[in-house]
Amino acid sequence: MLSNLLIDSLFPADLPEPAEWDRRFPPRELPAGARTVRFCPSPTGPLHIGGIYVAMIDRNLADTSGGRYVVRIEDTDQSREVPGVKEQFQRAFEYFGLLPDESDFAGGDYGPYLQSARETIYLSHIRDLMRRRLAYPCFATREELAEMTAQQQAAKVPTGYYGEWAIWRDAPHKRVEAALAEGRPYVVRFRAEAAAGERVSFVDAIRGRIEFDANRNDVVVLKSSDQSPRLPTYHFAHAVDDHLMRVNLVLRADEWLSSVPVHHQLFDALGFERIEYAHVAPLLKQVGGGKRKLSKRKDPEASVDFYLREGYPAEPVLYFLRGLINGRLAEMPQSEALAATIRLDQCGVSGALVDMVKLGGLCADHIATMPAASVLAAVTDWAERYDAELAKILAAETDLALRALTVERDGHPNPRKDLQKWSDFRPVYGFFFPELFPLVNDLADTPLAKLPADVVRTFAAAFGDAYQPLIDSQEWFNQIRSLAATHGFAGSPQEYKANPGAYHGSIREASQIVRVALTGSTRSPDLYAVAMALGADEVLRRVRALADGQG
Ligand code: GLU
Repeated sequence: MLSNLLIDSLFPADLPEPAEWDRRFPPRELPAGARTVRFCPSPTGPLHIGGIYVAMIDRNLADTSGGRYVVRIEDTDQSREVPGVKEQFQRAFEYFGLLPDESDFAGGDYGPYLQSARETIYLSHIRDLMRRRLAYPCFATREELAEMTAQQQAAKVPTGYYGEWAIWRDAPHKRVEAALAEGRPYVVRFRAEAAAGERVSFVDAIRGRIEFDANRNDVVVLKSSDQSPRLPTYHFAHAVDDHLMRVNLVLRADEWLSSVPVHHQLFDALGFERIEYAHVAPLLKQVGGGKRKLSKRKDPEASVDFYLREGYPAEPVLYFLRGLINGRLAEMPQSEALAATIRLDQCGVSGALVDMVKLGGLCADHIATMPAASVLAAVTDWAERYDAELAKILAAETDLALRALTVERDGHPNPRKDLQKWSDFRPVYGFFFPELFPLVNDLADTPLAKLPADVVRTFAAAFGDAYQPLIDSQEWFNQIRSLAATHGFAGSPQEYKANPGAYHGSIREASQIVRVALTGSTRSPDLYAVAMALGADEVLRRVRALADGQG
């Protein structure tokens, strides 16, 4: 057995005892039933939308129980850390209104909230486990471990570091000392105590009672001694951090469900009270006839940055995610669903499908309820970050932008649902802005190409010559109507159909000439409203371009 003296020599002399950390981070004084929850992203890449899903549940549970919501950055795998990602997380939390009560950015009494800054705390607890012979150094090399796994596979026994395979578990004192004296790098492993065939069970707040084989693996708790800083593995850090941050509900992805037996062993060995778990089912994507996990590698919509970059408004995204937790929430109106208490026992266990068409519909519905001024403010915020040219135009042409957005929106019984996200503004409303609108003067490739060019141009010229920006919409439209009659267009589609040889088309085609001149497309909001938003000068500039064009 290793002497305490030798064990202590492996750690800094001034390392505090675990009791000191317990005193430093006392139990929280919160009302009975308050939930202290945490979300713990690893800074190895942009946040997965599933992270926002979990953070949203965390925030709600803390808010509705009078508890606390903590964000802890799990950066123990420093080689995989992507610079700038922590700031990206923060931006995403801000965007979705999910800022934590405590975090590296917000501060708090239970920090540091970066695992890389908690080395001393971990080492105190590792030393304690080693002194109590619940953890031991293991000098097995990567090659030896790979060889062991191969042998286990060949023998068709479970892979892992257990039983007779746990070669350093009961290594003679002398051998350990010799290895240390040689300066061989080592990890620290936990001494798992479980008999072959032993079963354990626990209650998950989402899934109910679960049973597993007890853990027999001597998992690594502290990574290799040749690394600096010396950081723990996820398993160990989770136990220490969630205990000392006084978390009382661990909500996390269900990929960790099977680790609960080892986590319980660690909590018990460390003398910590066990914490309730809630394992959240993953978000899924429909692929062909099947479903699979939404993957950051394969699916752009898996990444939170996608929603920020495309400018999906936060509320309907959160509403959509709430509906995925539970159908009850999807049936409520958005504001009610966003205010509702999330109940863990109503969360699904099999994974929910992310249907982007449905999300787009919810976003369009939401934007359609917003006044033009709010839409403009949101588009401007978005453009300032993601579309500098548009931001500049909006700043210079705020009144035009407001007039454009007001068309069939404010006070309209059936407001337009033409924006699902802020990046749609440019393709949908860009034509209003002279800077973004290419004048239509070449008829080729326009829907007007099917009419004789001289008819189109003569009509456009006549419209321009007689144009008056009349305020009454019927009177305004009568300008087209009367010109249509004198330029060979039938008064109605029926009239045209009855005698197609006699006309170039009907009033519909005549209106299309003006519509294409003003908007570049045959599909646009109400033509009169567009003309009012553009103003007479711009209307004339556009129809004259068509009248004077080539070809
Ligand atoms: N850092 C872990 C992960 O990203 C967090 C797991 C947990 O919430 O405990 O998967």
